[in-house]
Amino acid sequence: MMDADSPPSNFIRDIILADIASGKYGGRVHTRFPPEPNGYLHVGHAKSIMINFGLAEEFGGKCNLRFDDTNPTKEDQEYVDSIIEDVRWLGGDFGDRVYYASDYFDQLYEWAIELIKKGKAYVCDLSSEEVRRTRGTPTEPGQNSPYRDRSVEENLNLFERMKNGEFPDGARTLRAKIDMASPNLNLRDPVMYRILHAEHHRTGRKWCIYPMYDWAHGQCDSIEGITHSICTLEFEDHRPLYDWFLDQLGIYHPQQIEFDRLNLTYTVLSKRKLLQLVEQGIVDGWDDPRMPTISGMRRRGYSPAGLRAFARSLGVSKTNGITEFEKLEYYIRQDLNRTSPRVMAVLRPLKLVITNYPEGQLEWLEAVNNPEDPSAGTRKVPFGREIWIERDDFCEVPPKGYYRLYPGNEVRLRYAYIVTCEGVVKDPVTGEIQEVHCRYDPSTQSGQPSRKVKSTIHWVCAAHAIPIEARLYDKLFTVEDPNQVPEGQDFLAYLNPNSLEIVQGKAEPALASAQPGDRYQFERLGYFAADKSSRPDHLVFNRTVELRDTWAKLQKRL
Ligand code: ATP
Ligand code: MG
Repeated sequence: MMDADSPPSNFIRDIILADIASGKYGGRVHTRFPPEPNGYLHVGHAKSIMINFGLAEEFGGKCNLRFDDTNPTKEDQEYVDSIIEDVRWLGGDFGDRVYYASDYFDQLYEWAIELIKKGKAYVCDLSSEEVRRTRGTPTEPGQNSPYRDRSVEENLNLFERMKNGEFPDGARTLRAKIDMASPNLNLRDPVMYRILHAEHHRTGRKWCIYPMYDWAHGQCDSIEGITHSICTLEFEDHRPLYDWFLDQLGIYHPQQIEFDRLNLTYTVLSKRKLLQLVEQGIVDGWDDPRMPTISGMRRRGYSPAGLRAFARSLGVSKTNGITEFEKLEYYIRQDLNRTSPRVMAVLRPLKLVITNYPEGQLEWLEAVNNPEDPSAGTRKVPFGREIWIERDDFCEVPPKGYYRLYPGNEVRLRYAYIVTCEGVVKDPVTGEIQEVHCRYDPSTQSGQPSRKVKSTIHWVCAAHAIPIEARLYDKLFTVEDPNQVPEGQDFLAYLNPNSLEIVQGKAEPALASAQPGDRYQFERLGYFAADKSSRPDHLVFNRTVELRDTWAKLQKRL
């Protein structure tokens, strides 16, 4: 998972190094990645996965996969399955350590009783609205609940009856008895349990009270013997509450460390918003290649090594920022450049006829599979009198600086010959260009010494071309931060109506054997991956990323 690079130094790693040196936790390193199964994982989770699994791996420790499944109405087995698949795909090694907060519901219930007995928790009859209203503000203390001083016996009795299903949803809660005047709002008698007559994807109908995330999380870490409980910054203010619970219970105490969330330009990373895109049919499911989900990125053709390299490049800090989407693409492209075989495909085909090339003649020309990797070898591509070229590689009236094909100009055909344009054939009715006519110079075969030309274009031999469908993606949103919306507007107002374009192209025969997930570089066009729907009789490719590196350019300008 750490791949070849040496692990980047950062403040979390420094804390762990210091803890190992001082013998805290006996030198153990045990982390966890704790998603709530209420959606698919996204690229922000990839950052957290890299940190948690990466640190465990580096220090010979362990990292658990734990589902924080305390909210049955929003959670689902489908999400559990997808999360397991995605973490594995990224290279997170959790062995057989897949745990669930719901595994600990009995223990959490026992501990709640313990807190009641110690006078540290009480059953409160206020509605959630009343709890909110009496909570105070950052500058004003809250008000004590009128039920705060119930006797231990009454609390025990009511809590048991809550568990037994005697009360309707929302009728009562169990609250921690801490301090309604605390400057930290999380310590103002937070709710520990709520009544919810809902079926849980793992515990079924066993429970009708469910622990709040804040009551469950620290104790789950404690049960699993987690040493470093690494989470995002928004939980910093919750740490005193987690510490308070652990201290009252007198149980094993992990160390929580917070880091900055990943935000990406032109992207939403809230599961609630991603769910909205899926449910409203704006995208083709959680794994739509435009989604910032791990499964979407996989389907689009991102490689695990590329995503890991990106996540590693982010580092960790104590302030949230926003990362350029182009930076993600830069790392994806870097990896694909090393690993993807090159092929030739034409996305918007225009017929080119070589008028002096003998009819019926066919040559098999040698093409390099990957200039970055000599071990990838070469292949033969067919060449004949009729070939397909890219529509925009021809221009009848060339603008200044246009060096590709136009009447009278010559270009090199990649791996083949130099051709000179001598004219076009147009549709007599529409005037549309149907064929470009060229002459070739047989003495200029690729690899032989010959004159220089300004431009080389790719092509596909018409007689051997196979049809392909290519799906070209653009950003899903039109603004850098679709999370910043004016009053009364929705992030959907910023949807890019042109985020998907589908074209029917032609490709060299090597692509006929492409299996779903196979990755290629289409020369001059970008990296492409065969879609999960791709079949030999209907090949479908997703454009993963274009070849143009906008991020490196951006960096140069800065
Ligand atoms: P969302 O707000 O999208 O629902 P979440 O934080 O509620 O995300 P969880 O399933 O609770 O999602 O997250 C699992 C782990 O991944 C947590 O430790 C969380 O801090 C981390 N995580 C979630 N989003 C990001 C992000 N954008 N960057 C880094 N880590 C993240
Ligand atoms: Mg959450």
